[in-house]
Amino acid sequence: MRKKIVAGNWKMNLTLAQGEQLVNDIVAAGIQLSEGQEVVIAPPFPYLTKVKQLTKNYPGIFVAAQNCASEKSGAYTGEVAADMLQSIGVDYVILGHSERREYFQESNAQLAKKIDQALAAGIKPIFCCGEPLEVRKAETQNAFVAQQLQESLFHLDAAALKNIVIAYEPIWAIGTGLTASAQQAQDMHAFIRAQIAEKYGREAALGLTILYGGSAKPSNAPELFACPDVDGGLIGGASLVAADFTAIVKSF
Ligand code: PGA
Repeated sequence: MRKKIVAGNWKMNLTLAQGEQLVNDIVAAGIQLSEGQEVVIAPPFPYLTKVKQLTKNYPGIFVAAQNCASEKSGAYTGEVAADMLQSIGVDYVILGHSERREYFQESNAQLAKKIDQALAAGIKPIFCCGEPLEVRKAETQNAFVAQQLQESLFHLDAAALKNIVIAYEPIWAIGTGLTASAQQAQDMHAFIRAQIAEKYGREAALGLTILYGGSAKPSNAPELFACPDVDGGLIGGASLVAADFTAIVKSF
């Protein structure tokens, strides 16, 4: 069976003390994870080591960075390399979030290089894809997402693909309070899985974890997670409130 994941993306929020409190509250909630279920916490870079340390005794809880560099090392002021993340024990890295694509002009081609750096460092990418509102209105979301997959992931071989998690995040649903309906999420997740099956075969597609992201919250998580092709969520706003995040985790 494929892994189920609920990942909290803190984005650029919280002080170190607030982040520590949030992690302590999450672990204190005593979440029971079944085999194959994971919780991933993605704090800003300066807090990664601390969050890793606070969660080290909880085998189902993993730590993610929110980005990494597309180059291995060198004169890239302000960048953080995948190898550096590996050296502090980071497990996952979120790549291609729509905010990175929009505000920092990250292209599909550049993301392909970031994916390669992460995999080479032994860090699992959580690759985000998803369409803007105008594409959804034009009903061309499938072609849009297919191109994101092709240009950033399809250079990988089948062995490398096993280390990828995909997060489908329709941009019109991120931070807007507008959630994709369970049917819209299921349709796109099934489409993504079919794209993977076509390129890598049915077994690879069945093994791939595909998360939904975009205004997921305790009230809609159960319905979303009940969809056969939705394997968990990438949670923004609701991951900053321990009670909401743990309630979402309990909807697994
Ligand atoms: P949101 O963000 O849950 O606040 O909509 C999701 C994300 O951007 O990963």
